[in-house]
Amino acid sequence: MNQTETLLQRRERLLGPSVPTFYRDPVELVHGEGVWLWDADGRRYLDCYNNVAHVGHCHPRVVAAIAKQAGTLNTHSRYLHRGILDYVERLGARFGHGLSQMVPVCTGSEANDVAMRMAQAATGRTGFIATDATYHGNTALVSQLSTRRPPVGGYAGNIRLVPAPGGDVDAEAFASSVARAAQELEEAGHGLAGLMLCPIFANEGFPDVPPGYADAAVAAVRKAGGLVLCDEVQAGFGRVGSHFWGHELLGIAPDAVSMGKPMGNGHPVAGVMTRPDIMAAFRGAFGYFNTFGGNPVSAAAANATLSVIEDEDLVTKARDVGAYARERLAAIGHPLIAGLRGRGLFFGAELRHADGSAASDATADLVEAMRRRGVLLNRIGPEGNILKIRPPMVFDHGHADLMIATLTEALDEVAP
Ligand code: PMP
Repeated sequence: MNQTETLLQRRERLLGPSVPTFYRDPVELVHGEGVWLWDADGRRYLDCYNNVAHVGHCHPRVVAAIAKQAGTLNTHSRYLHRGILDYVERLGARFGHGLSQMVPVCTGSEANDVAMRMAQAATGRTGFIATDATYHGNTALVSQLSTRRPPVGGYAGNIRLVPAPGGDVDAEAFASSVARAAQELEEAGHGLAGLMLCPIFANEGFPDVPPGYADAAVAAVRKAGGLVLCDEVQAGFGRVGSHFWGHELLGIAPDAVSMGKPMGNGHPVAGVMTRPDIMAAFRGAFGYFNTFGGNPVSAAAANATLSVIEDEDLVTKARDVGAYARERLAAIGHPLIAGLRGRGLFFGAELRHADGSAASDATADLVEAMRRRGVLLNRIGPEGNILKIRPPMVFDHGHADLMIATLTEALDEVAP
């Protein structure tokens, strides 16, 4: 590092230019505890955005479990070890409709890749449907389902992206575009292997869709012989408050569920849960092996995270604090706030100007104004005008009060 090079320049020199940081003035974080983060100058930030540190940054029980296991044994997945078995048994109890076996992996992208290959193996078909405003990960297969940046070489013929829920895409419109896409895949000779969806449509801007919204689409998928794949990477582990899984909130019964981000509270552990018949087809077709997936340290992190969720009753907490924060957000009454979205500790607001146009620039400015005031949150949605608030699950009423007070000030700054 030379004397004049900034940390950001050094990052670009060493990691390349395309790993974006948050904020115009990026934060260098050095320490975390609960809902709090500290930067290199000792400044404290309220974290209203981090869904990876699910049970709070550096939760002592998770840290201790990781340290203890790392000091005892860590190895690859070819030996017998009870940690991952205990975990799958415990987590399996939280699934209905026969989902009882897991492929442990290391990232959400990998989990979705495996889920897609499970669907191909189980159905003998190759086609997939997803929404046109989503993100499910970055493997070659999964990045075919992303519209953020079209895949190099263009989309493959076996992919159909349907208009995302929200706006005028009601349940009926969603179902008919799914049915049409399934028909097209059939006619093109691919057939439908599966529909991949995030049950709260997180990356689509989490539109408030009612329970039952996806029923007709799911029926169309089943009629075409495809599987329903739920990406719970963002929605899972109690974040929605009312339920442990987003698919329970939506009221659908998926054939495979992928999970990641919050699963190990920051330790890279992820997985796909499915039925034994689908697992058998997958193993038969792909003979899948993963060196790090579900290793003893990963299993210790995942077991400890699940224990904290249970012992601290964090799902109920997400429901109650989320409802309170949403109520206070509604009470701000600033003219830019055109509507509220979300549930539990995944919520936000839609920002529009008086003429109804998306307040995308104002939302971007608001995120920056919050950062300057020491509160971290972000924005999403096809137009970037949805304020996205998604704190660690230990966020309490006092944290919500501080976030709302700061937001009220910041709104007055960006749109007086
Ligand atoms: N699915 C969803 C819904 C996501 O939001 C993301 C990441 N933002 C992924 C999958 C990919 O997870 P990972 O970055 O761990 O590969």
